[in-house]
Amino acid sequence: MPSLVKGKSSREELAENLNEELRSANEQLQNLNEELTVKVEELTRLNDDLDNLIAATDIGTLFLDLSGRIRRFTPAVARSIDLTEADIGRRVFDLRLSLDYPTFDDDLYAVLAGGLPVEQEASITADGRVMMVRIHPYRRADRALAGAVVTFVDVTRLTAAERRLQVYINSLPHQVAVVDHAGIIRLTNAAWNRFAAENGGRPDRIGTGVDYLDSCVAAGASAAAAADGLRAVLRGELQSFTCEYPCHSPTEFRWFLMNVAPVEGGIGGAVISHINITARKRGEEELRLAASVFENSGESIVIADEAERIVSVNHAFSEITGFAAAEVIGRSPRVLLSGRHDGAFYRDLIESTRDTGLWRGEVWCRRKGGKSFPVWMTVSLVRGEDGRMSHLVGVFSDLSGRKAAEQRLLESNAELEQFAYVASHDLREPLRMVASYLGMIERKLGPGIAPDLKEYLGYAVDGARRMDALILDLLEYSRVGRDAPHTRRFALGEVIARAAGNLKVAIEESGAELFVAGGELIAEADGEDCLRVLQNLIANAIKYCPPDRQPGISISCRSEGEMIAVSVADNGIGIPDSQFERIFRMFQRLHGRRDYGGGTGIGLAICKKSVERMGGAIRVASTVGMGSTFTFTLPAAAV
Ligand code: ADP
Repeated sequence: MPSLVKGKSSREELAENLNEELRSANEQLQNLNEELTVKVEELTRLNDDLDNLIAATDIGTLFLDLSGRIRRFTPAVARSIDLTEADIGRRVFDLRLSLDYPTFDDDLYAVLAGGLPVEQEASITADGRVMMVRIHPYRRADRALAGAVVTFVDVTRLTAAERRLQVYINSLPHQVAVVDHAGIIRLTNAAWNRFAAENGGRPDRIGTGVDYLDSCVAAGASAAAAADGLRAVLRGELQSFTCEYPCHSPTEFRWFLMNVAPVEGGIGGAVISHINITARKRGEEELRLAASVFENSGESIVIADEAERIVSVNHAFSEITGFAAAEVIGRSPRVLLSGRHDGAFYRDLIESTRDTGLWRGEVWCRRKGGKSFPVWMTVSLVRGEDGRMSHLVGVFSDLSGRKAAEQRLLESNAELEQFAYVASHDLREPLRMVASYLGMIERKLGPGIAPDLKEYLGYAVDGARRMDALILDLLEYSRVGRDAPHTRRFALGEVIARAAGNLKVAIEESGAELFVAGGELIAEADGEDCLRVLQNLIANAIKYCPPDRQPGISISCRSEGEMIAVSVADNGIGIPDSQFERIFRMFQRLHGRRDYGGGTGIGLAICKKSVERMGGAIRVASTVGMGSTFTFTLPAAAV
């Protein structure tokens, strides 16, 4: 029935349509509901996660709103700073936190006002635990500031470990710093800091947080190598780096050794240490100097160890002995023995060296070819730290040349003396002839002799007499030292008396007075030499006295260590200072030929020669017009 089908009313259609829409809306609603359920479930899970996280974490976290009111906190916070549930909603500024963090309020205000996060180490007042407190802004999803999050991380163990590490590295005597992979100083020890302070070191250059590479560059060219070394170690190009460098202060000579070692374990960075090596450097310097002195010494040096094995010889040793170092090292010093001394001599040498640490004397040694030669040798003993002998050092110089020269001198002296003796002896003969014939001529001419001729003859005779006196004195001079000295012990008083006896006439004629002191002292020398000296000095003391003055002569003897000093003091005319040396030379006189009884100028030269032969010395002190004192020394007899 089409009319019926067609005839479905429009209301029915409308209802159908509505139904349809309702169904689809319902479906949509159902979908939405399902999505919402999923979201709620997700949110619940997230919330659970957060709650679990907060409950499980050891990091104490405190959530604050913009006015500093506590919104929420984790259990770890409750344990750390004593918060309870009742504190939620209270302003944190109003609470007394059990935290040693004096600027907490200020730092929190700053963060709540939009400032940067703050991090600060602070200890819990109750139990001393150390917390790393971090105040961080709390931002919503739209980045708007909504409060702050304060976290508390327990770093007690970390801090203790750090302190222990600091104590460990502080106990190192060297200056130590640890730098990170970029060369920034992260840790320094006490020695490092002390060095910086004592040396005007700038903490901004070598303190914690400073780029050590930059500091090296700033220190100048000498530190550039150190910077390169450190860089190479940091990059892993070098396993370690060391360098020695001078670092002299204005008052001190100093050297340091820098050592850079990488920090192991993949952390990166390096440990830098500076060690004061001045003592070693100084030692090396001294060694170098000693080695140079040893090698370049003109004297031969040979060093033997306690087993009497030669361990070292110098260049001069090889030159003098002919032995190269390699030929004698390891051998006994006996290789130098000449065979000219007996066993007792060497035993004495060794014993004396061991007892006194030193022996000195003349020794005959042997050259490489076997020829012996004389040396002046000093043997000294070197002791080790334990006080026992560690080495023997022999230093010697070749006396061959000197010995030969001495011998030549002795020979030519002897020849000269022989010549002087013979010449003076033979010269007196013709002189005596001249004098006697002059006398004969004078007698022959008799009393009628022309006055001028008599005068000339007088000059000639005087000349001959003076020449005779000269020859006699020369003879005397040449006699001194001709024979070997006849050394004996004698009391000085005895020789003084003999000298005075020989000068009896002169003493009596002049009315001279003699005073003697210390005549009991005993000398050990050639008595004739001593007599000659005293006689000359007393004769001069009488001779060189103003005619209107009575000569007063005082002879005093006194001990001077191993010598006796004899002074002959007079009250005569005196001698100017400038002539003190000259008067001891041959033929040197300070007066006219006829003044003060004349003289040859040889007397004091004879005194000097005689005194020196006795092993003494002679000197004079004088004041012109007041008198002179001649003092000579001679060996005292051993007691
Ligand atoms: P000589 O007495 O024969 O001249 P000496 O060698 O004894 O020679 O003395 C050298 C000089 O030293 C003397 O000429 C004299 O001028 C001076 N002289 C020596 N002894 C004395 C003295 N006791 N007082 C002053 N002058 C002296």
